[in-house]
Amino acid sequence: MPAQLPIYEIEKAIVDSLSASHRLVLRAPTGSGKSTQVPRMLLRHGILDAGQAVILQPRRLAARLLSARVARELGVELGREVGYQVRFENVTSASTRIKFETEGILLRQMIQDPELHGIQAILFDEFHERHLYGDVTLARALDIQESTRPDLLIVVMSATLDAGALARYLHPCRVLSSEGRTFPVSIEYLSRRAGAGSPPVWDLAADAFARHAEGDVLVFMPGGYEIQRTIEAIRGKSESKGYLLLPLHGELPPRDQDAAVARYEQPKVVVATNVAETSITIDGVRVVIDSGLARIPRYDPNRGINTLLVERISRSSAEQRAGRAGRTAPGKCVRLWSEAEHAERQAQELPEIKRLDLAEVVLTLKAAGVEDLRRFRWLEAPAETALSNAEELLHDLGALESNAITPLGRRMLAFPVHPRYSRMLLAAEEYECVYHACLVAAVTQGRDLLIRKSGKDAESVRADLFGDRGSSDFWILMSAWTYAAKNQFRMDVLRQAGIHGVTARQVGPLLEQFVRIAKQEGLDAEPRAIREEALQKCILIGFSDRVARRMDDATSRCELVHGRRGVLAKESVVRDSALVVAAEVQEVGGRQGEVSTILSLATAIEKEWLRELFPKEVRSELRVEFDTATRRVQAFDELHFRDLTIDSGSVDPPSDAAARVLAEEVLAGRLPIPKWDHGVDQWILRLNLLSEWCPDLQLPPILEADRRHLLEQLC
Ligand code: ADP
Ligand code: MG
Repeated sequence: MPAQLPIYEIEKAIVDSLSASHRLVLRAPTGSGKSTQVPRMLLRHGILDAGQAVILQPRRLAARLLSARVARELGVELGREVGYQVRFENVTSASTRIKFETEGILLRQMIQDPELHGIQAILFDEFHERHLYGDVTLARALDIQESTRPDLLIVVMSATLDAGALARYLHPCRVLSSEGRTFPVSIEYLSRRAGAGSPPVWDLAADAFARHAEGDVLVFMPGGYEIQRTIEAIRGKSESKGYLLLPLHGELPPRDQDAAVARYEQPKVVVATNVAETSITIDGVRVVIDSGLARIPRYDPNRGINTLLVERISRSSAEQRAGRAGRTAPGKCVRLWSEAEHAERQAQELPEIKRLDLAEVVLTLKAAGVEDLRRFRWLEAPAETALSNAEELLHDLGALESNAITPLGRRMLAFPVHPRYSRMLLAAEEYECVYHACLVAAVTQGRDLLIRKSGKDAESVRADLFGDRGSSDFWILMSAWTYAAKNQFRMDVLRQAGIHGVTARQVGPLLEQFVRIAKQEGLDAEPRAIREEALQKCILIGFSDRVARRMDDATSRCELVHGRRGVLAKESVVRDSALVVAAEVQEVGGRQGEVSTILSLATAIEKEWLRELFPKEVRSELRVEFDTATRRVQAFDELHFRDLTIDSGSVDPPSDAAARVLAEEVLAGRLPIPKWDHGVDQWILRLNLLSEWCPDLQLPPILEADRRHLLEQLC
């Protein structure tokens, strides 16, 4: 009964505030009705007569579930009055008044249409999560409201917000809070610290379930794998008899996601990622079991790689998770860590602007006319290194020149993908392989198409079907997808080959979308036979900062540009090439807590291509050194791409360079020289003393430089 939701107690205040101020901060606990009811209030009070309400969501899963819920409440078909749009999927129509969308969508819309025609209100939901696009879009929305659209309504909503700081940023604005209705939740910790030797987190969760099972239970786990293991572990407990066991995460098909939030006669256990923390309310939960973990995306500006590591959530997230047990009655939360460890946790998660790759957002802002990013209206400014790394990559890709967006950069924005992929798509025009480049982009946008740990059988099926050696891992992905499509994505066929069904089904629509955009951009995107080399070069153009050289033939260890190192992924089919470019460089945490840098989606390249495509960045250099083992001077003719040695061949050392190196060794005392004995040193010493004490003799002393010169001559 929506009318009974706590948010209705402040309905009048919300409507009045918006007619007085046009900027509103709204704080109310999770489950109060912010996401589903506030848009409905605007509709009912005639505020949306002039245009849409856009509700920005951090997660695709939430955008879809919330829009479906509101459509159902209003008794309309999804996609008509109520719809949603996420990257690659648009379920709206001309009659849509309430539109849920993910955060990146609106920022792109602002470039096409800086006056935001047809939009009356923007609601920033879950704003406490401080996603990159949320922050930046809010800044732009304020600019737009202050310039061309004073009538635009801006509402910032969250369950937990530092309303003070935000109110200062939005000044002048109204702030409304609702305390909602929550019941006390008792918290239980484990008595011992987690760590080496303790059982896996899914077993701890299953034990906690067995001890506390009562009514509906919500378990938080970091990702799909852990969720699956937890469900298996709980199924093994006798207490789970009569319970429905339901997973909830973004990789599941929509039907399974709907099943997790639906109501049943039977009690249920929902095992979810942090989507259930505040975005999605699961009603009737009495017990929360919290692993205290989440996969958190970060960007390491020092090495230029994205990481997705399982990390400990902050105290503030843990508090939100616990609150899910007290929505309808007093509840219980079991934290699978110790109280001492809890005190050591961060109070809050860092905002994304402080921890993600900024390349795409920087390009988008440049296109939107933001010239000086250092003077942008940041709610919180990003680190200078993150900003300059993003600009550097965009310069490398040719999207920026002297920090201004180039025509190429603008064309790149037509594709809703990371600038690397859009650069590759545009390069493909020249190499006449646009269709295949679209397919490369399409097979990599979702989660992994090939299940990494799919077992020996699937691996050998895959090797038979698609080969296990090749010039690029992308060919394997493309063959796997073509095979899946030919077999109508039949589950048994996919399972046998270890192909991820959900991901595979997403590729086709993406491919169509990229091909359509490419055609709109005037590219020839007809499928045709191509030379492998053409596609390999395009991939190199998009990922030139990830060129790697295998350290020797027998190993998968590689050196990369910018002084980084990594290991070629085990499943890579690129086995014979000394030089590769890795489309994915990811630091991953193992189950034992170790961390390694994995280079995956590799493509073989040749050094001639580097010369051809980056003539200014390839140079040869002669390196001469003394080899202590053979006691000989050696020389190598080396080829460098940026700071990476990509080739090295032994040559005869030129005599002057060899002499210099030898002299250096002698001077350092590492190499005795025949006939230059103690007597000679003594003689030089006497000569120098004489020259100093008896200047009238005008004897030239033999100083360090002369000594070096003499030695070089001798050598
Ligand atoms: P808030 O945004 O304040 O957290 P919501 O508007 O998301 O609150 O949800 C309000 C209430 O509506 C929830 O407590 C829940 O009872 C119900 N609800 C919302 N979405 C769904 C859904 N997909 N299925 C079932 N109930 C839902
Ligand atoms: Mg909400």
